[in-house]
Amino acid sequence: MENRILGLHHITAIAGMAKQNLDFYTNVLGLRLLKKTVNFDDPGTYHFYFGDEKGSAGTILTFFPHEGARRGSAGTGMATNIAYAVPEGSFDFWIERFEKYNVIYNKPSEKFGEKYLTFLDPDGLKLELVIPKNTDNRTPWETDEVKANVATKGFHGVTLTLQNKEKTAQVLTDIFGYTFREQSGNRYRYATDAVDTANIIDLVELPNEARGLGGAGTNHHIAFRVKNEEVLMQFHDKIAGLGYNITNKKDRNYFYSLYFREPGGVLFEIATDNPGFGIDEPWDQLGTHLMLPPQYESRRAELEAVLPKLD
Ligand code: ZN
Repeated sequence: MENRILGLHHITAIAGMAKQNLDFYTNVLGLRLLKKTVNFDDPGTYHFYFGDEKGSAGTILTFFPHEGARRGSAGTGMATNIAYAVPEGSFDFWIERFEKYNVIYNKPSEKFGEKYLTFLDPDGLKLELVIPKNTDNRTPWETDEVKANVATKGFHGVTLTLQNKEKTAQVLTDIFGYTFREQSGNRYRYATDAVDTANIIDLVELPNEARGLGGAGTNHHIAFRVKNEEVLMQFHDKIAGLGYNITNKKDRNYFYSLYFREPGGVLFEIATDNPGFGIDEPWDQLGTHLMLPPQYESRRAELEAVLPKLD
């Protein structure tokens, strides 16, 4: 159990204007801003983390906002649809809210016996709210306007769009311990029983669809969760042994991680629970300061001057 992949850890996407991204996810969707930091590979831009109270794995959505970024286009070789679990009976609230904030959404529909409501964020990133078949008992983050009886509980799963699903499915089943569950048309559902939530990956096969083009409104990578660095390195050796080009362990301040590109083209990361978001801010103040990793602390004034204003 402990040495398995424990569902999703986080999902990272690209956004346009930082303030617009921050307002949408905190105010409209009601997520907690867990961390305001910089892109460690490009410290003149932000990296935002949104999630539940403590930034539990399986609730964390992160963005690299770039002012004036070109819009990407969703396509094959990409994660194309992020699904959040919400409580039964919450769709009326969300539809009213989407109307109020001019959010583009579709009327509710159903797949695999679960009701879902698709909507777009301000950059066109596709998300959906799902009422899971099995009640999701996670405690959501609450805001004044988005209370627990309607709030998102974290990820239900994510959809990967692929020209051919076979080799991606093999990574999920043979390396990550997922099993095939159900098929509906060209959508194939995989899940792991290692955890009860954030445990679904849908593969949608579109042989004639163009490759996705990265940019604002598209997903950059998805990260799978492991308990600690010891398990992380077990996966490193296993994946490297199968001939994949996998990175060495990276210190991402709030977790340790590895990256490799799966054969269908989606960038996969594996990330640890430790050390978590409390490492550099008190729990009750998460997201309220600009947090810089040690290598950039000496450049704080310079970076604060170039980062976009958020108020
Ligand atoms: Zn990541």
